[in-house]
Amino acid sequence: MAAAKLVVLGSINVDHILNVQQFPQPGETVRGDSYQVAFGGKGANQAVAAGRSGADITFIACVGDDDVGVSIKKQLQKDTIKIDCIDSVAGETTGVALIYVNGQGENIIGINAGANGHLSTERLAAYQQKIIDADALLMQLESPIETVQMAAEIARKHQTQVILNPAPAQALPDSLLSLVDVITPNETEAEHLTGIAVNDEEGAQKAAQALHQKGINKVMITLGARGVWYSESGKQGKIIPGFKVKAVDTIAAGDTFNGAYVTALLEGQSDEDAIVFAHAAAAIAVTRPGAQPSVPWRNEIDQFLL
Ligand code: ADP
Repeated sequence: MAAAKLVVLGSINVDHILNVQQFPQPGETVRGDSYQVAFGGKGANQAVAAGRSGADITFIACVGDDDVGVSIKKQLQKDTIKIDCIDSVAGETTGVALIYVNGQGENIIGINAGANGHLSTERLAAYQQKIIDADALLMQLESPIETVQMAAEIARKHQTQVILNPAPAQALPDSLLSLVDVITPNETEAEHLTGIAVNDEEGAQKAAQALHQKGINKVMITLGARGVWYSESGKQGKIIPGFKVKAVDTIAAGDTFNGAYVTALLEGQSDEDAIVFAHAAAAIAVTRPGAQPSVPWRNEIDQFLL
């Protein structure tokens, strides 16, 4: 049997990370302790997590016509991702995140969407057959919202499952939510979508209920180290705990969870088993620094679960 097909639609960024003792004040220059360039962007992180955990994956995205765009595409190929739907946008730069991390581990981030802002409905139209032929479509919210909406409409019309990771946090129209099969907000994102604070299990249950009422079948609210709230429409939900590990950096924890969950789902695993698989992948990722460098390969996840 051919492997189930996944399409990821989303962003590609290059992260420039400067570690400083204290953030600079306006007009001030501070010396960095260390500097790292790493590939990131929620779309790319989730595509890499799906690719390394074993999915057959096509990525719809845009890079700039700069050197880093070329490097990123090469790296994505090494991560087993098909890159024929990644456009290089003439005269534009690849998306950038400028990240300061201070001595307390807090961060300040500025983002330039660059080429990500060019993932238009016209560009998507050229690749819509990929979504029609796929078994699942995984998206986030770092791409133009009209493109996300159009992709969800194509998927729904052709029985391709829609998994939406609604990050970064924002409210969304019912027209989009009603097309989503599985939604995976963290606590903050769930509150933005529903207006209900998710501070405890009761809050998670209420927020999930509100999302089910919008027509979404499965709700997974990720709760950091505590795991995930999982509920299916019309059924009792529960928290599925994660794994206890020594976390050093939770960047891309949610992205790794999403990519690995979809891989397991497409392999035919039950939701509960797919969530445990995704918890394992994300637990490994938080024990390592950086976004994509921290994302585990399949053999590491299988080993972790033994
Ligand atoms: P986001 O990064 O989107 O805010 P979360 O912080 O909710 O997402 O984390 C997503 C998933 O990553 C969790 O459901 C869990 O599987 C894993 N995770 C996050 N933080 C930890 C941690 N400290 N220890 C173990 N697993 C973690």
